[in-house]
Amino acid sequence: MSSVVFLSQEATEAILLQVTRLCAECYEGFVVGEVIHYDMQHYRYICSSCHQHLQEKHPSFEEREEVYGLFEEVLAK
Ligand SMILES: [Zn+2]
Repeated sequence: MSSVVFLSQEATEAILLQVTRLCAECYEGFVVGEVIHYDMQHYRYICSSCHQHLQEKHPSFEEREEVYGLFEEVLAK
């Protein structure tokens, strides 16, 4: 079973310019300063509350914090 991997990053103006600005789960808009989560399996961004919800549902949930460089790399693609 593959694990669910997320990258977490505080949303900056630069990041928000490059993403959809909406949570892929609840369609809540992202704001600067909020922590957003990039789903590496489904190539989408979700908010903290949906992230929390998924974490409870998936035992194989994997969180990768403080990988700023990797997050930037993902955005650059
Ligand atoms: Zn959400």
